[in-house]
Amino acid sequence: MSAHSMSSLTKSDCFIEGHWVPTEKRFNVTNPATGEVLAEVADADDELTQRAINVAETALAKWRKKTARERAVLLRKWYQSMMDNKQALGELMSAEQGKPIPEAVGEVEYGASFVDWFAGEAERINGDILPLTDSSKRVLVTKEPVGVCAAITPWNFPNAMITRKIAPALAAGCTIVVKPPQLTPLSSLALAQLASEVGIPDGVINIIPTSDAKTVGKRLATSPQVRKLSFTGSTGVGKILMQQCSEHVSKVSLELGGNAPFLVFDDADIEQAAEQLIACKFRNGGQTCVSANRVLVQESVAEKFTQAIVSKVKALKVGPGTEEGVDLGPLIDQDAVDKVQRLVLSAKSDGATIEAGGSVMTELGDLFYAPTVVSGVTDDMDITKEEIFGPVIAINTFETEEEGIKKANDTPFGLASYFAAKDTSRIFRVSEALEYGMVGVNTGGISHAYNPFGGIKESGIGREGSKYGIDEYLELKTVTLGGLE
Ligand code: ADP
Repeated sequence: MSAHSMSSLTKSDCFIEGHWVPTEKRFNVTNPATGEVLAEVADADDELTQRAINVAETALAKWRKKTARERAVLLRKWYQSMMDNKQALGELMSAEQGKPIPEAVGEVEYGASFVDWFAGEAERINGDILPLTDSSKRVLVTKEPVGVCAAITPWNFPNAMITRKIAPALAAGCTIVVKPPQLTPLSSLALAQLASEVGIPDGVINIIPTSDAKTVGKRLATSPQVRKLSFTGSTGVGKILMQQCSEHVSKVSLELGGNAPFLVFDDADIEQAAEQLIACKFRNGGQTCVSANRVLVQESVAEKFTQAIVSKVKALKVGPGTEEGVDLGPLIDQDAVDKVQRLVLSAKSDGATIEAGGSVMTELGDLFYAPTVVSGVTDDMDITKEEIFGPVIAINTFETEEEGIKKANDTPFGLASYFAAKDTSRIFRVSEALEYGMVGVNTGGISHAYNPFGGIKESGIGREGSKYGIDEYLELKTVTLGGLE
C-alpha cells in the first residue's frame, strides 16, 4: 500500500460500520496556529450514537470469536500502516492540534507502539487451572472480552489517547465506539481510514465526532449495551461519567487531571535535572496531564537551578508547527491562553517573580504563549493549586526532604510525579513516599507502551499500556468442573 498524503487522510464524516456517514449539522475544525478552517466535520447526535452502539454490538459477535492470532495479525497490519503514514498523520495532527510536526510524528510512533504492543498481548491472554481441596473438582479461570466499549478522549494527544484505548479493546476481543475531542477529531478519523484499509472488520471501530459531548457522552455511559467506558480528560467530567456509568454498573477506566510535582534535591545533578524538567514541561507546550506543574526545589540549590532553567527556557523557539526548529507551537485555544495568563499574573500580583516570558507572543498570533519561568511561588497561589496546562515553570522551594515530600503530596491528585536526586537511600525513600501512580526518578519521560500509565486519588482508576492494560478490557470467568473421577 502506498503512503497517503495528509489531504487524502483528511476525513470529515462519522465512521460507522466501515462507512463514512455524513450529518447535516457540521462543526468547524480549525488550525490553532492560523485560525484556518481545516474541515467541516460531521456532528453526531444521540440517535447516531445509538446507531454506532448497535453496530458495535452486532460486530462483537464475530470479532470476539476470531482467534487471538487473527486479531493480532490485523492489529500489526494497522500498526504498520500507521508507521508507513506517520508523516502524513503527523502533519494532520500538527495542523489540528498545533504541536511541531516532528513532535506530532513522534506521537504517531508512540500511538502506534500501543497497537504493536497490544497485538502481542492479544496472544498472551491466558487463564488458570486451579487445584481445589476436593479432588473431584477443577476450576478453570478464563478471560473474556468485556463487550462493547466506549472511549472519550482529549485533544492534547489526538492519536495516542485513542490508540491506547482502541488497541487493548480490540486485542481483548471487544468492539468500540470512540467519541474523539471536538477540537481534534481528524487524527482519529484518519486512523479509522487506515484500520479499514488493512481489513479490521466493519463495525469493530466506530468514530463519532460531535459538538455535543454531554449528550453523546451520556448515551455512551448509560447504555446497557456498552459494558465499559474508558475516558481521558478532566477530573470534573470523569466524575460525571463515573456517576453515569453507575446506572448499569459499567466498568470504567479514568485517566484524569494531575498536578505533578517535580522535586529537585540538594544532591541532584542540577544540569541534568534542568534538562529533564525542560523536556517534561515543554512537551506539547505544557499541555499534558503528566507535565510538571509544581517545581519544588531544595533551598540550598534553588538559585543555581533557577538560573539553569532560565537560560534554557530563553533558548526555546516558539512558532507554527510547520516551521523548522520550533520547540513549541500555539496553545490549543483562547481559553487555554487566558487560563495561563491568569495564573501567571495572579502569581505575580501575589509576590512571585517572572524570570522569563510571561506574556502572549502577539507577533506570532493570539495563541502563542512565551515559555515562562516564575520563581518565588508559594503553596497558596492558584498556580500551585491548579493544573497550568501551558508552558510555565512555577518554582517553589522547600528546606528538608520531609517538607518536600509533604508539599508534593499536598494535592487531591496522584498521577505523575518526578524527582531528581543521586543518593540511593533517598531515591527509595522518596519514591516510596510519593502518593502517585507514576514516579520519574532523574527523568522527565515516563510514558511508554510497556509501562502501566495511570493515577491514584482524583487522577483516576485503571492503567493503560503495559501487560496490565489489557485487563481493563477483560472479565474473568470461573468455571468449576465437578464429578471428576
Ligand atoms: P480537556 O480539558 O482535556 O478538554 P475535558 O474533560 O473537558 O478535558 O474533555 C475531554 C473529553 O471529554 C473531550 O472529548 C470532551 O468533548 C469530553 N467531554 C466534555 N464534557 C463531557 C461530558 N459532560 N460528558 C462526556 N464527555 C464530555
